Amino acid sequence: MSEPEYTIALEGVTFTYPGTDIGVHDVTLGIRPGELLAVIGPSGCGKSTLLKIIAGFVQPSHGRVIIGGKDAAGIPPRQRNIGIVFQTYTLFPHMTAWENVAYPLKLRGQDQASRRAKAVDILGRVGLGTQTDNLPAQLSGGQQQRVALARALVFDPQALLLDEPLSALDAALRVEMRDEIRRLQRMHHIATMHITHDQEEALSMADRVAVMQNGRLVQVDKPRDIYARPVNREVADFIGQANLWTGHITGPTNVGTPFGTLTTLPHGRNTGDKVAVLVRPEGLLLGRGPGDINSFTGAVTRDRFLGSFRRFDFEIGGVTLLGETGDMGEITAIHIPPTSIQLLPETGSAQS
Ligand code: ADP
Ligand code: MG
Repeated sequence: MSEPEYTIALEGVTFTYPGTDIGVHDVTLGIRPGELLAVIGPSGCGKSTLLKIIAGFVQPSHGRVIIGGKDAAGIPPRQRNIGIVFQTYTLFPHMTAWENVAYPLKLRGQDQASRRAKAVDILGRVGLGTQTDNLPAQLSGGQQQRVALARALVFDPQALLLDEPLSALDAALRVEMRDEIRRLQRMHHIATMHITHDQEEALSMADRVAVMQNGRLVQVDKPRDIYARPVNREVADFIGQANLWTGHITGPTNVGTPFGTLTTLPHGRNTGDKVAVLVRPEGLLLGRGPGDINSFTGAVTRDRFLGSFRRFDFEIGGVTLLGETGDMGEITAIHIPPTSIQLLPETGSAQS
């Protein structure tokens, strides 16, 4: 049988918690074989609920969950053959690292010798080859999370679901573990949903990023496209640094902002329309001569040196703009090229 296009597919899936209208609404989403899909969104937007639906812990009221090309309705969680890692390590404290990793194999009736061999092998692959007999209390947080990852992979699941697996770790370890998860995920060529509320984590790890708001998917795209072409103001604000202003269209290539009128590329909107105006910090250039379009004089009110570049606040008539540049000279004017300006819907109802 040929591999289905998606290892996991959701088709119009809705689930609400009993007695509420909170949950996930009409989610359509696919994770391809070997793909790492990051799901990102503010706390409470429904990310973990989405995971529970895929894992089979809760049943959708509408729509279908398709795993490995088969409708998963009625298939209990364990038979879905999916590895899951949660934020907290959830290791059994009285079992050694290898016994924890081997546990899913025990549940599946494998004999002790082969369980142990498989657990030790995969612990080696996550860099814990010398700690197989340690108890969880004898391992650091990062090591415990590696054990949890090994346990999620040891039974050759067809997909991996990771629910904010790095949130409990300190900053340096979090960055290191991003690479570790990505390496393992690639090595196993396993379809993976990685839930996070950390946009840098999502952008740096994922093949595609799915942005959720209020129980709905608002955009699914490659990291670069999410950053460069957010579908609405909320996505632009949530992903990356952003200058966002409420603007009014004043002409076919003009928009009024709180600090003055900008010349844009032809935008096809109607005069008087209300829009969100987006300029990324790196799209704000240092000022050129007076008379240039979209040039403004003002003053730097905050300047942060960050090694190869600096991030600065620039005030124009009471409005503060955020800029980034590698130029370390004095800044007295800025320039916003029309190609740096995006006009977005003010509020988020756009579906992709
Ligand atoms: P996230 O993982 O994105 O932070 P969740 O999926 O955990 O969000 O929760 C989504 C919404 O559903 C939240 O408003 C949360 O309070 C609510 N919720 C989660 N679990 C339950 C539950 N068992 N009963 C009722 N509401 C719940
Ligand atoms: Mg959650």
